Amino acid sequence: MAAAQHTAYIGLGSNLADPVRQIEQALDELDELPLTRLTARSPLYCSRPLGPQDQPDFVNAVAGIVTRLSPLALLDQLQALEQRHRRVRQRHWGPRTLDLDLLLFADRHWVSARLTLPHPALLERAFVMIPLADIAPGLVLDGARAAQRAKGFDGSDLRPLTPPSR
Ligand code: AMP
Repeated sequence: MAAAQHTAYIGLGSNLADPVRQIEQALDELDELPLTRLTARSPLYCSRPLGPQDQPDFVNAVAGIVTRLSPLALLDQLQALEQRHRRVRQRHWGPRTLDLDLLLFADRHWVSARLTLPHPALLERAFVMIPLADIAPGLVLDGARAAQRAKGFDGSDLRPLTPPSR
């Protein structure tokens, strides 16, 4: 019997080696993962880095997918994709060519050494919540819709790179 299909959301970030190209390419590659289809891509945004400020701004986006992979098999695929982009990480919160976070996997809650779901920083980061609300405004997260949560950020630390297609 085929594995069940689930909706998941992936946060993408890059601030090295032509970040826009890294993100656009990673979005296409998400669509090519086994047993997986890309269903939504947010506009691209630009954010100030967390932590050390002596590094370039980040380009961020959020993707929606449907997948028949398990959460850990999907994480394996995301980490392999990061490696294919020759991810460089010299230090914690330092620059990287591609960072992929599994934000949500259906309504799964999961805590293990390799994977925490929902992603622990999901609700706190403008560069995650604002693009997530672009593609899934009605998604209910801890009792509030994504669109409502996104309005809680003043947006000053996040600039659209491409106009939303709405
Ligand atoms: P990061 O610095 O965000 O790239 O952290 C990567 C590490 O976080 C890896 O060791 C992952 O196994 C772990 N991790 C835990 N939960 C998640 C998640 N929801 N999405 C991505 N990585 C996760």
